[in-house]
Amino acid sequence: MDCIFCKIVNEEIPCYKIAENEHAIAFLDIMPITKGHFLVIPKKHFEFAEDAPEELMANLMILATRLAAAAKKALKCDGINFIINSGKRAGQIVPHVHLHVVPRYNDDGIYWPWPQGELDNETASTLINSIENAL
Ligand code: 5GP
Ligand code: ZN
Repeated sequence: MDCIFCKIVNEEIPCYKIAENEHAIAFLDIMPITKGHFLVIPKKHFEFAEDAPEELMANLMILATRLAAAAKKALKCDGINFIINSGKRAGQIVPHVHLHVVPRYNDDGIYWPWPQGELDNETASTLINSIENAL
């Protein structure tokens, strides 16, 4: 399969690896948003996070949490964004599940750009029902 992250997992192309466990590998993002931006990916290929096994996603988060705590200590950042873009519309470019861990700094000049909507009771219960019915 012609997947750049599978090639990193298989060591066909290099990466700046930070750590790995049985299921996941973490390495520095080649085009970092901020200093210390890294990715945590499953060793097994899945395109979308929501289609991957729940346990595998939990394993990503275990490694990400451990490394984010270390990065916070090492880099003295002021916050961290944990981000998964799933699907083109959500900004996913590399079609292999990956969790971005982006250290944030008070002076990084990056602002959350999303608009804030509104939620009423009727919409909330319709949404909850439709998600519950799809479980
Ligand atoms: P996405 O937009 O799919 O959520 O993010 C993909 C990320 O992968 C981007 O931040 C991009 O910089 C990173 N990336 C793409 N190709 C490579 C690569 O070959 N090596 C590394 N380390 N990062 C990559
Ligand atoms: Zn892959």
